[in-house]
Amino acid sequence: MSTAIVWFRRDLRIADNPALDAALRAHDRVLPVYIEAPDEEAPWAPGAASRWWLHHSLKALSVDLGKRGAALHVARGPTLETLRTLIARSGAVAVHWNRLYEPAVIARDAHIKASLREDGIDARSHKANVLFEPWEIETGQQQPYRVFTPFWRNARARLEPLPPLDAPKRIAPALVDGALTIDELALLPTIRWDSGIDAHWTPGEAGAAERLGTFIDGVVDDYRAERDRPDRVGTSLISPHLHFGEISPRQIAWQLAGNQRGSLSEGAEFYLRELGWREFSQHLLFHFPQMPERNLNARFDGFRWKPRNARLLRAWQSGQTGVPMVDAGMRELWHTGTMHNRVRMLVASFLTKNLRQHWVHGARWFWDTLVDADLANNSQGWQWTAGCGVDASPYFRIFNPVTQGEKFDPDGVYVKRWVPELADAPNSIVHKPWTDPDFLARSGYMAPIVDLTRSRDVALEAWQALARAPA
Ligand code: FAD
Repeated sequence: MSTAIVWFRRDLRIADNPALDAALRAHDRVLPVYIEAPDEEAPWAPGAASRWWLHHSLKALSVDLGKRGAALHVARGPTLETLRTLIARSGAVAVHWNRLYEPAVIARDAHIKASLREDGIDARSHKANVLFEPWEIETGQQQPYRVFTPFWRNARARLEPLPPLDAPKRIAPALVDGALTIDELALLPTIRWDSGIDAHWTPGEAGAAERLGTFIDGVVDDYRAERDRPDRVGTSLISPHLHFGEISPRQIAWQLAGNQRGSLSEGAEFYLRELGWREFSQHLLFHFPQMPERNLNARFDGFRWKPRNARLLRAWQSGQTGVPMVDAGMRELWHTGTMHNRVRMLVASFLTKNLRQHWVHGARWFWDTLVDADLANNSQGWQWTAGCGVDASPYFRIFNPVTQGEKFDPDGVYVKRWVPELADAPNSIVHKPWTDPDFLARSGYMAPIVDLTRSRDVALEAWQALARAPA
């Protein structure tokens, strides 16, 4: 009788889980383990909203494992010591896990793999959370890609939808005493700010499957047009489920292909391309591990950011800037733990260009408040918008929150949902209420904290100074 440990991390699912599948194939009993060790991910230990999600996702996984006869063993780190203790107590001869790509996690995992192997344990990691490993897609010169379009052309040509692994029907358990309860991890906030988030999400594998099903049965064919509309539900809302591995990209690709029976509709193809951006972000983070803190385009190291301004940052964070689309986005984020992609670009552009605050301040706030906070996607999204990434929006592209609002939220539905002060605003001014001073005074809303036109010009001047500076 041999026993294996399956070390769950951000692969909180039973179906299409290569580590679990490999352990079950090769061993008689399995001990599923979750080890809480946020310090090992420093300086990007999970933020508050992520910890909320993790709590609920672990509960869901625990129930799903229980239905199959196993129990999730919850413990606290340090991870290597904890694994060694569990190996000694269970008699396990193998440890399986699924790979992640954040720099601190890669270093930790490599050390754990080498140490366990020295102990004589069969330590194995598996590909589970990406369509392609970051090193599987490379240029003709065997270099990492820096531009998305050729990256995706190459990856897309190689992508064959493969059937996901079935969920096991039964797991013969190995049991070890001394587990903590999930509640003992104290992942939930002590001051309960999470009721809005709670109402929006169902963490766990079943919640993920339901979200994807609703999207594929509903709006996928119209995704190309609908995805830019924050006033409607035109996207899949799958990002936190993907981040925590409650669903795999392989499962999504397979379901898209199955649903379309062969070639994909334009909407489905476009959706797959967005998953391609997720792959590209992981590719960049793996090859350029400095991405979370440092400009990928080193030329930006000389950019004249304004010194950190606590007042401006607080106004931005709390949705009190007086710019309706920005405030709607930041309030949506605070209440639900998410924000529409177009609005993410817009609020990021506002912070980095109109307020000229360093993009890392924005990335940090998103890190703490997004339920889908993901080091690769978040760092990539911020560098793209700030213009300092490798395949970035040009710095001189400064999103105009007024015209963007008029185009993508034409009836002000999104703004009115999150900025109730503007509930009675006529469409003509809902995205620029300062143009009607009488209305603004009556509404209780505020004047903008910055002049959009003037701040845009100043930002462009700063950028031109950078462009003129010797390289
Ligand atoms: P859909 O439109 O349904 O897309 C499906 C999936 O494709 C997403 O769940 C996501 O996994 C992937 N995807 C879509 N757009 C992107 C993109 N631009 N880059 C990378 N992957 C993408 N996404 C995160 O998952 N975590 C983050 O922390 C994060 N931070 C961001 C910060 C900024 C400043 C910006 C501009 C974007 C950020 N994004 C982040 C990307 C994007 O906004 C979200 O993935 C998307 O809004 C999630 O909603 P959805 O699942 O409905 O997306």
